[in-house]
Amino acid sequence: MYTVNFNYSKLPGSYLFSDIAKRVAAYKEANPEAKVIRLGIGDVTLPIAPSIIKAMHKAVDEMGEAESFHGYAPDLGYGFLRDVISEHDYKERGVDIEPDEIFVSDGAKSDSGNIQELFGTENVISVTDPVYPVYVDSNVMAGRCGTYIPSQQKWSDIVYLPCTAENGFVPEYPKEVPDIIYLCLPNNPTGTTLTKDQLQGWVDYAAKNGAVIIYDAAYEAYISEDEVPHSIFECEGAKSCAIEIRSFSKNAGFTGVRLGFTVVPKELKCGNTSLHDMWARRHGTKFNGAPYIIQRAGEAVYSPEGQKEIREQIAYYMENAKVIREGLQEAGYDVYGGVNAPYIWLKTPKDMTSWDFFDYLLKEKNIVGTPGSGFGPSGEGYFRLTAFGTHEDTKEAISRITKNS
Ligand code: PLP
Repeated sequence: MYTVNFNYSKLPGSYLFSDIAKRVAAYKEANPEAKVIRLGIGDVTLPIAPSIIKAMHKAVDEMGEAESFHGYAPDLGYGFLRDVISEHDYKERGVDIEPDEIFVSDGAKSDSGNIQELFGTENVISVTDPVYPVYVDSNVMAGRCGTYIPSQQKWSDIVYLPCTAENGFVPEYPKEVPDIIYLCLPNNPTGTTLTKDQLQGWVDYAAKNGAVIIYDAAYEAYISEDEVPHSIFECEGAKSCAIEIRSFSKNAGFTGVRLGFTVVPKELKCGNTSLHDMWARRHGTKFNGAPYIIQRAGEAVYSPEGQKEIREQIAYYMENAKVIREGLQEAGYDVYGGVNAPYIWLKTPKDMTSWDFFDYLLKEKNIVGTPGSGFGPSGEGYFRLTAFGTHEDTKEAISRITKNS
């Protein structure tokens, strides 16, 4: 008789967004006339920019001709895309990341969930709290975390780094030194980030303690302030203690198209073992490359036209962020984020729990957001709204929330 991976049974309940979807579906069934506005899940709403679509069409046509047809893509990504990423995202910013240190993938969710395969199960992981749930869940599935404490909504053997209004959402160095440190900056869900000096502190901490940082920069394109680094590799020494994950989902609207990449520097070694070689081996074995058409679309993101168009889209979303942030602030809410990220993080009013506030917004205002507690214990008492809606929906949502609130 076969057995199953019993680590799955340790996972508490379902994935956050399926819980939300179920509650919203039940509400809609009972109230079919309700005009529900969704500012919950972090999915984009604007269509993919014209120059990127044009590049995709061209690539589709190439696939229909014998001379330009492409079969299996190279496991690690086409040279044309790795070159342009290296140049635009790193070298132009004075960061020396070579094309062959860039591993093209189908997105940051897969990479951030799969990267833990490189590490032994005995490693202690640490996460900023609250954070994107994939880091914890993927480590639990791999058997890296043993005991869940339901009353505290946390795992006893994960080092949580609370990020709350009290510490300005800046994590403190843990006393118990972890082996693997996940940093998501700009942060999902709080929308906050670290300055370069603060991030350098984490790089120094990791280097001193023999830890590795998994740096998820999925929201890099939303950074607007000068002192905020765009890559962890801007910090001295990061190439020997960090891995960086990026996505085309939020900067170029590729959530349904699927493209991302991970940088594993050649300098990153555990003793004599190269993590770059390990990740290349893993890709070679388990991944057959992102599709040619999509990689051509990714290349077009970096063209002058593509850059202009995606900048306009980001500005559109950030205009929403401003409307949400300022509207809620005027109504007396404590509001964070929304400056370097498309997320607004707010303190729930009247000490409501995150889920109570979710129900209140859904039933009284017909607005869907995301309860902060779904991102970790320190998210309790907070709530996330996203700037990915339309201008019209965003304005309407804020007017509903702030009316008689
Ligand atoms: N990383 C973070 C922090 C995210 O918030 C998300 C999506 O919401 C992802 C990764 C997933 O990105 P992708 O669409 O590239 O899989």
